[in-house]
Amino acid sequence: MSPDDLMFDGDEAGPGPAPLSLASVPWPVLVVDDDEQVHAMTRLLLNDFEFEGRRFAIVSAFSAAEARAILAERTDLPVVLLDVVMETQDAGLRLVHHIRHDLGNRHIRIILRTGQPGQAPEREVIVAYDINDYKSKSELTARKLFTSLVGAVRGWRDLVTIEMLNQSLEHRVAERTAELERQTALAEEQRRFIENLVELMPSPVWYKDAAGRYALCNRAFREQFPNADGSDWLLYGEAASEQAPARTDSFSFETSVLGATGDARELLVVKRPLVTPDGSAAGMIGIATDITERRRMERELQRLATTDPLSGAHNRRYIIDLLGRLLAGHGGAPEDRRSSGAVCLVMLDIDHFKRINDEMGHGAGDIAIRTVVDEIRGHLRVTDQIGRIGGEEFAILLPDTAREDGAAIAERLRRGLAALAIALPDGRSFQLTGSFGLTELRPLEDTVESVLGRADQALYRAKALGRNRVEVT
Ligand code: GH3
Ligand code: MG
Ligand code: MG
Repeated sequence: MSPDDLMFDGDEAGPGPAPLSLASVPWPVLVVDDDEQVHAMTRLLLNDFEFEGRRFAIVSAFSAAEARAILAERTDLPVVLLDVVMETQDAGLRLVHHIRHDLGNRHIRIILRTGQPGQAPEREVIVAYDINDYKSKSELTARKLFTSLVGAVRGWRDLVTIEMLNQSLEHRVAERTAELERQTALAEEQRRFIENLVELMPSPVWYKDAAGRYALCNRAFREQFPNADGSDWLLYGEAASEQAPARTDSFSFETSVLGATGDARELLVVKRPLVTPDGSAAGMIGIATDITERRRMERELQRLATTDPLSGAHNRRYIIDLLGRLLAGHGGAPEDRRSSGAVCLVMLDIDHFKRINDEMGHGAGDIAIRTVVDEIRGHLRVTDQIGRIGGEEFAILLPDTAREDGAAIAERLRRGLAALAIALPDGRSFQLTGSFGLTELRPLEDTVESVLGRADQALYRAKALGRNRVEVT
């Protein structure tokens, strides 16, 4: 309720449906007196009173009981002019008690009026019941009544205003408290969610504090690294990562460790500094993913993609790639740099292979291909590479090998093949020969095609000159 909400529905409210403007709403004054004349007199006196542009209007009660009924209905009454002796000697004082105690109305201003000075209330009663003024009826001149009423209305209005402010303040405090409680509950739920999630994760997760201790870790971590606080893999990996400039975001590295069953495991470790609210790094959180199986599969896929399934030699794609890298050569990958010296390419084609298939069967041909590859491998260094680039045609790359040395190696391979007895499961065996064409890579001018073309030319020349021989370009 606000003081401006006051609506007065008494006699003096104008007729008509339109709501009254506030300025035309009088201040209601509850007059409680068993003497009809007092009401008439008061009404008369109030007639020409005005406070803040509003007049005063009487709400009449002729007994304490009648006043109770009105007070039970209306909370908008700013002031009551109250007789003391009515139904009983102390009916007025009892009404005061009722207003303050039973109704809990602490706002309404109470002005006691009595005919006899002997009926003045005790001091304690004035204090205890918050009686706000006391007048003898003979004192009620117009000016005194006006002064009293204006003081009472002001006091009432101040109390109502304060009460409203208090209520809205209490409301805001309650809302804020509820909001904080909601947030706290949410934060607690999130904390439990994260805690459970981390504990459930199959990957080891840990937090290492600023002093380097493993302060927190999950179940997977405890299971896989029961001795984590020793000078183990994590310390090693971290030592490397800590040499980098101060890190603020996440970083990762791969490392390999001995797993719980003693086998080597490859791990991808992702770490991130845990920064305190004041911005200083407090420690590191980390998560390790076991990538052993992934890496093994990647290597296997890589091998399958670059290997000839029949012979186990590299396939055509691998040889073409390798040739390209060797030609790009000097700026190439580190493992290719050792071949900064001369590189020879040898092309080998088995002679009259069609006859082998025709006479011994296709299976014999396959065995021949495998046996030839094994034989050649036996003559090569680990850095040499052999690939099957056609049906019975092979490319052999010899790094750090000049043309003359390459020719000598090819000659050894030729003799080795010619001396080879290829045994079949059924006990039969047969022999074969191969023709060889050799060229040396010219990294400054060659392309993959030009090298292959030159080696092919040499090979065809070997075929044309009678087979089972080495030709060099
Ligand atoms: P040349 O001395 O001129 O090289 O004669 P060639 O018979 O070896 O050459 P040609 O290219 O005429 O025949 C190659 C044969 O190799 C034809 C094909 O059937 C056979 N071949 C290709 N791939 C395979 C294979 O994987 N296994 C078997 N058994 N034979 C193959
Ligand atoms: Mg052939
Ligand atoms: Mg051929």
